Amino acid sequence: MKFLCVECDQQMAFAERQLPGDGTLAATFKCPKCGRVVAMLTNPMETQLVSSLGVEIGGRTVPAEAFEMVRANVMTAGRRDGLTAGPTWSADAQERLGRVPSFVRGMVKKIYADYARERGIAEITPAIMDTARTELGLEGM
Ligand SMILES: [Zn+2]
Repeated sequence: MKFLCVECDQQMAFAERQLPGDGTLAATFKCPKCGRVVAMLTNPMETQLVSSLGVEIGGRTVPAEAFEMVRANVMTAGRRDGLTAGPTWSADAQERLGRVPSFVRGMVKKIYADYARERGIAEITPAIMDTARTELGLEGM
């Protein structure tokens, strides 16, 4: 899997990979010439596909167990006490999340969940999502 900067006809260099722990994967690639950055997002199913095929991303294969490991690391490095369960989602908030395009849903869900956790919000509702969007500047998510 390679990314080319069309303008420079240069292969983009791997810049960053994130495994948020919910099975989604985000990788960014940067053009060494013009500095343009592209991001690749995969949903959990696509991530599994990529890892099961052993496709190298950023020079390393993505082991399936990495998800568990990363989750543990995130919790250790977490801003909170770590082991508390995440916030729950009200039925209408879940419905609204379901309308988010599947390829970014995991990321969006994590953003809202982090937002709620940092503020001690136990349940995410559409009103919370609205507030979070405004505060985080995520209009359109
Ligand atoms: Zn370029």
